[in-house]
Amino acid sequence: MKHQHMITTTPTLSAVQIKEIFELQKSKAPEVKLSSVKERVAKLRRLLVYMLDHRTDLEQAVYNDFQKPFQETALTEIYTVSKDIKHTIRHLKGWLKPKKVSTPLAMLGSSSKVYFEPKGVALILAPWNYPFYLTIGPLIYAIAAGNCAMVKPSELTPHTSLFIEKMLRNLFPKDEVCVIQGGIDVSTELLKLKFDHIYFTGSPQVGKIVMEAAAKHLTSVTLELGGKSPVIVDDSADLEDTAAKVMWGKMVNAGQTCIAPDYLMVSENKLNELLPKLKEAIKILQDPEGRGVKQSTSFARIINEKHFYRLRNLIDDAVDKGANVVYGGEVDLETKYIAPTILTNVTPDMQVMKEEIFGPVLPIMTYTETEEALSFVAEGEKPLAFYLFCRNRTLTELIIKNTTAGSTCINDCLVQLANPNLPFGGVNNSGIGKGNGYYGFLEFVNQRSVLKQRVGFTGIKLFYPPYTEQKGKM
Ligand code: NAD
Repeated sequence: MKHQHMITTTPTLSAVQIKEIFELQKSKAPEVKLSSVKERVAKLRRLLVYMLDHRTDLEQAVYNDFQKPFQETALTEIYTVSKDIKHTIRHLKGWLKPKKVSTPLAMLGSSSKVYFEPKGVALILAPWNYPFYLTIGPLIYAIAAGNCAMVKPSELTPHTSLFIEKMLRNLFPKDEVCVIQGGIDVSTELLKLKFDHIYFTGSPQVGKIVMEAAAKHLTSVTLELGGKSPVIVDDSADLEDTAAKVMWGKMVNAGQTCIAPDYLMVSENKLNELLPKLKEAIKILQDPEGRGVKQSTSFARIINEKHFYRLRNLIDDAVDKGANVVYGGEVDLETKYIAPTILTNVTPDMQVMKEEIFGPVLPIMTYTETEEALSFVAEGEKPLAFYLFCRNRTLTELIIKNTTAGSTCINDCLVQLANPNLPFGGVNNSGIGKGNGYYGFLEFVNQRSVLKQRVGFTGIKLFYPPYTEQKGKM
C-alpha cells in the first residue's frame, strides 16, 4: 500500500522572472535550432533514461495526487511517454530530412523542397488528468523539432508537477527547457508573452482564452480540448465485448480521461440485454481479496472536491429529472470516491447530457432507429472521440461517413491513442491541430518551402513585361 507524502512546493515566479526566462530562451533558440539529429536524439534518450530510472518516484507522485493505481500509471503515463520517445528517436532523422517535392513542367529547371525548421520558443500548458503524459508528451515533439520550451504543468497535481520540475531541471538548462509552476495567474502571465507556438491541453473554455491571447501575437496554437465523446452500440454488436470495453474506458483514471466514452446510446430492444453485462464488467475493480469497489486499489479517485461535488450534482440532477441509478451512485467526500455509476431513463435536458462528465458516470439513452442516434450526436459539438460497436462493415463505413470526430474507434475505446501513426486531436470545439508521432512533430515546426531556381533563362521569364496580347491568353 502506498502512503500519502507531504509536498514542498517551489515558490511561484513573478511576472518579471517569467519574462527573464522567456528572454533567455529567445536568445538561446537560434543555437538550439542548429542542433543535429544526433544531439536531439541524445536529449530524448536522457529523458527516457531519467524517467525509467525514477519510475517508482513518478508512480508515487501520481498516486499521491489522486490515488491513481501504479499499474495504471505504468500504462497511461510511463508506457505512453516511453513509446512516444522511442518512436520519435526511431523516426526523427527521416522527419527532419528536407522533403523533395515534384516540380511542374512550366517550372522546369527549378527544384523544390520542404524544410522542417523549429518554430523557436514554445509554451506547453498541461492539464491534471494525465499529469505526466500530457506535459511530457508534447515536450518530446518540441525537443525533437529543435525548440526551446517553457512548460507549465497543472497546479492540481502538485506531486507530479514537482517530479516534472526536478526531472527537467536535472536534464536541461533553463534557457532551453524550463518548468514554470503555478495556476491561472501564472498561466495568464505566460500567455502575455510572444511565443512562437502554444501547445495547450485542457478544457474548451480555457482553450478559447488561450487562442484569444495567442491572437494578439498571431502565435500558432495546438489546442487539445475535450467534450462529450459518444458511444453508439449497434444491434449487430457483441454485447459482452462491448460492455467490457466501454466500462474499462469509463473506469480508467475514474473516467477522468479526455477521450473517455462519455455517454452510450443503444437500441431500445437491446438495453435489457446490455445492462447486466455492463454491471458485470464493473467487477474487474474487485480485488482478489474480495473487497468491494469502494475499497478498490484498482480505481483512481476524483481529483478534488470541486470535481467531486460537480459529479455528485450531475447524478442528483439526473435522478431529480427522472433517471434511474441502475448501478453505483455511492459517493464519499472524505476519500473523493464516486462509484462507477450507470444511469438509465436519461433525457437530453439533464445536465449529465449537457457537459463533459469527466468521471465514472455512464448515462444511457435509447434509440429506435440508428439515424435518431446519429442526429442526436450531430446536434452536439463535434466530439473528440466517437465510439461505435458494430459488426456490420457496410453500416460501419456509412456511420463513419455520416458523422465527424477527432478520432474514432470501432469496437473498442481509448486505444486509438496508442497508435503513434494516427494523428490525435479534436475538431473545432474539441480541438485544433493534431498531436501524436509525426503529427505532433509537425505542430512544432515551420514547414518552410524552399524553391531553388536555375540561373539564367527560365520559363517564368516568358511572363515578364512588356505584356503583349498573346501573354494575356496564356
Ligand atoms: P483546464 O482547461 O482547466 O486547465 C488546463 C491548463 O490551463 C492548466 O495548466 C491550468 O492551470 C490552465 N488554466 C486554467 N484556467 C485558466 C485560465 N482562466 N487562464 C489561463 N490558463 C488557465 O483543464 P483541466 O481541468 O486541467 O483538464 C480537463 C479538461 O482537459 C477536460 O475538458 C478534458 O477533456 C481536457 N483534456 C483534453 C485532452 C486532449 O488531449 N484533447 C487531454 C486531457 C484533457
